[in-house]
Amino acid sequence: MSYAALKQLACQANLDLVKAGLVVLTWGNASAADRAAGVMAIKPSGVPYDRLSADDIVVLEIASGRIIEGTARPSSDTPTHLHLYQSFPSISGVVHTHSACATSFAQAHQPIPCFGTTHADNFYGAVPVTRPLTAQEIDTDYELNTARAIVETFTKSNIDPVQVPGVLVASHAPFTWGPSIAAAIENSIVLEFSARMALASLQLNPQLAGIPQPLLNKHFFRKHGPGAYYGQKTK
Ligand SMILES: [Zn+2]
Repeated sequence: MSYAALKQLACQANLDLVKAGLVVLTWGNASAADRAAGVMAIKPSGVPYDRLSADDIVVLEIASGRIIEGTARPSSDTPTHLHLYQSFPSISGVVHTHSACATSFAQAHQPIPCFGTTHADNFYGAVPVTRPLTAQEIDTDYELNTARAIVETFTKSNIDPVQVPGVLVASHAPFTWGPSIAAAIENSIVLEFSARMALASLQLNPQLAGIPQPLLNKHFFRKHGPGAYYGQKTK
């Protein structure tokens, strides 16, 4: 993919997040990776969405973090995106928002339980929450340490980032990812929707248990993995 096409993809993804109602002001960012070229394209820091164009998007080398194309300063969350691409080799899109309901769980330091099939279609089980960062982790390399805490959460609990393509950063907000930027955006939309419904479900029944395992298995694996049969066959 040309850098121009990748920049266009990243620009459109950021605008799509605003259109989906997941991002207000400049609280969010999306990046798209071209794995063959070893690069990612990300939104510039602090540029209002109504003035964002593909020319503003910054292209960086994933392995080194070196800026390859673009004159703007990349998003302040760039080290988080880079470390996620370095740690989760199958992902090619990362989305960060402060969408209200998912962020409410993040602020409460609580994972989003899987209560139903809407959630189970995209996330195989609860969406985990990271541990809080230490004062030192916040003081130095904050954005990189945010990603390190995310990766640690998946490693320690043995969660597959392909099966659970999102996380809540404690006291902060969600990140989602996927095999493409479009998938990462879809996961971000489903995450917020599932969080909103989880809050309502807990309000109706505070003792609510999670979705039965067979139903979780059915809904996730009919859309994902080798036995998937949902949707149209791809040629
Ligand atoms: Zn944030």
